[in-house]
Amino acid sequence: MNDPYEASLSFAQKKDKEDQLSTFRSQFHFPVHNGKEAIYFCGNSLGLQPKNVESAIQQELHDWQQLGVGGYMHAKNPWLFYQQNFCKPLSKIMGCKEEEVTVMNALTVNLHFMMLSFYRPSKERYKIIMEAGAFPSDQYAIETHVAFYGFDPADAIIEVSPRGNEKIIRDADILSAIDKHKDSICLSLFSGINYYSGQLFDMKSITDAAHKSGIIAGFDLAHVAGNVPVQLHDWNVDFAVWCSYKYLNGGPGAVGGVYIHEKYAKDKSVRRLGGWWGNDERTRFKMEKGFIPKPDASGWNQSTAQVFNMVSLKASLEIFEATDIKSLRAKSIALTDYLIFLLNQLNNLRFDIITPLDNDKRGAQLSLYFHEKGKEIHQKMIDAGIIVDYREPGVIRVAPAPLYNSFEDAFRFYEILKSLD
Ligand SMILES: *Cc1c(COP(=O)(O)O)cnc(C)c1O
Repeated sequence: MNDPYEASLSFAQKKDKEDQLSTFRSQFHFPVHNGKEAIYFCGNSLGLQPKNVESAIQQELHDWQQLGVGGYMHAKNPWLFYQQNFCKPLSKIMGCKEEEVTVMNALTVNLHFMMLSFYRPSKERYKIIMEAGAFPSDQYAIETHVAFYGFDPADAIIEVSPRGNEKIIRDADILSAIDKHKDSICLSLFSGINYYSGQLFDMKSITDAAHKSGIIAGFDLAHVAGNVPVQLHDWNVDFAVWCSYKYLNGGPGAVGGVYIHEKYAKDKSVRRLGGWWGNDERTRFKMEKGFIPKPDASGWNQSTAQVFNMVSLKASLEIFEATDIKSLRAKSIALTDYLIFLLNQLNNLRFDIITPLDNDKRGAQLSLYFHEKGKEIHQKMIDAGIIVDYREPGVIRVAPAPLYNSFEDAFRFYEILKSLD
C-alpha cells in the first residue's frame, strides 16, 4: 500500500489547506523564538493564550471598576452566577449533563474533595486501585488521603503496572487486577491518559469492571479534557476531576473542573464538606443555619467564584463552542498520525515512541523515549525554537494541539529534528 503521507512542506501545506479547523490558529498567541513563531507542542502542559482572553479580563476589571460590589448582580457576566457559564460548554466536552459539571478550586484540591465524598473505606474494603506511575500530585494526594484515615499507603494502594520491560499497561491487566482485589477495593482512581506515556485508558471498561464489584469509579482527566471526547454520563462514571490549563487553554493555575454523576446530587448518604457557594442562591444570603446543597454538581462548590481565575477559561471555551470535540479529535488523530510517519523517517536520533501507535489508545501526545541523552536532545530542540517538555526518565513529550497546531508545524518539527546530531 502506498503511504498516504509525504515528508514535504508542500504536502503539509496541502493538508493545512484541507483542514476545516485551520482558521482557529490565528486566535492564539504563539511564543516567538528568534523573531519567528516557535513550534509549540506543549499544549499538554500549558495551552496557549487565546487572543480573546485579554478583553475578557478587561471586561471583568471594568465591571469591578464601575460597579464595585454591584458586579455580583450587574456585571456583564454576574459574578454571583459565574460558574453557570461553564456548564454548557464543559458538558459537551466531557460528555455529561450540564447539571453534572462545575468549576471550582484546582485539580489536586478537587481530587481530595472528591475522595472525601467518594472514598468510603470500611475495615474490609479500604483500598484504592490506580495506575503505577501516575502523575506525582495524584500519587501524593492518594497516599496522604489513605494515611489520613489511618491506613498504610503501601497496603491500601494497589498499583497496576506495565509488564516486564513494557511501557504501556495492558487494559486486560487493569480489569483482572480490579477483579482479583475486588473484596478489598472501594475506589478505582485511574487517569484518563497517563501524563508520561500518553496511554489512553479504556475508561468505560474500567468503570464497568469497578461497578460490577461495587467499586466507585473516579478518574483524573487532566490530559483528557479538551483532547479526547468522553461520555462520562453514559459510561456511568461516578466522578472526575481535571485541570483547565492544558488542552482547555484556561491559563496557568486556572480553575479546576469537576464532574459528579447526577445520581449523587441529592443523595444525602454522600457526605461532603460544604460552603456557602454550594448552597442555593435563594437562601445563601439569608445567612441562616442549615446547609442546603444545590441539587447538582455545583452543590460541591464552596467559595465565592474566583472570577479572575475563571475568566480566561470562560473566554477559551467560547472557542471550543465554535467547533466541537469530535472534529478536534479527528484532526488530532490526523496530526499525530502524520507526526508518527515523519518521526519514522528519522535515522539520526535513537528513540522509541512509547505512546501506543493505535490511535484509539492515545490522545494528542506522543512520548519519545530516548535511551540516552534525552535531556541534551531536549535542550537542542528548545535552542532550535521547538517548545516541548522533558519528563524523567528519558521522555520528550510532543503534543500537537488540534485547535492551534498545523501539519506545517509537524513538518517543521521534523526538519529541525533531522538536522540535530
Ligand atoms: C497536570 C496534572 C495535575 C496538576 O494538578 P494541579 O493541582 O492543577 O497542580 C495533577 N494530576 C494530573 C494527572 C495532571 O496531569
